Amino acid sequence: MCITETLINWKDVTTVPVGGETTITPGIVVTPAIGRDGAYSGRWAVIHQPSGRYTGLPGTSLDYARELAGLLNTGVDWTVAAEHIGTGHKDAARDAMGAYRDWAWRGLPLWWARWSWTQTAPGWAVQHQHSPAPAYLPWHYLLETVGGPDPEDRLGRVWFDPVPLWELRCAAPYCTDPVFKAPDDERPMRHPDRTVLADEAHVAGWQQATPGRWLCRTCHQGHER
Ligand SMILES: [Zn+2]
Repeated sequence: MCITETLINWKDVTTVPVGGETTITPGIVVTPAIGRDGAYSGRWAVIHQPSGRYTGLPGTSLDYARELAGLLNTGVDWTVAAEHIGTGHKDAARDAMGAYRDWAWRGLPLWWARWSWTQTAPGWAVQHQHSPAPAYLPWHYLLETVGGPDPEDRLGRVWFDPVPLWELRCAAPYCTDPVFKAPDDERPMRHPDRTVLADEAHVAGWQQATPGRWLCRTCHQGHER
């Protein structure tokens, strides 16, 4: 994705040059939404770049605008001029708006990028004297943890846990940081018990949107109505 110069045409009343973010659909860009007076409305628009026209909504959240642009990627060529827009384009736009009506009122993404639960290889359990619950780590993180400068870190128990570990991921399409991490930890949190991960994620503001699909705090906020 990159930013490209776009001339928004608001119903032939006003035209405004803006920066448009390219999307997975060639010819469709996401831009700040501009109103009749040419002022930024605070929302985001899905624009047919060759004509500068809105493809549907006057404005929505950035997350929904990006997802709507992705839904227009149905095989029709959006790089053509407005006069060559045909039935296929109109059907694609109508279907995308249908998905928006169906899902946005529930605060859900218009499509899912992935299942949230992923099973990973078994890990090493590390239990320090001062922390009752073990952390589950892959080998290279274990070396970092027990090989650190703090002698306290070396007091405890380490064992190889034979059970595969779970990881939790945000299921929203354009999440930039989908793997759940415990607070103050840059590493993905892994655990053999999904309820432990779910509880931690919930405390961190994650939400289970539908069974098996979670939204991180940022994506949950980005899909609020
Ligand atoms: Zn997310």
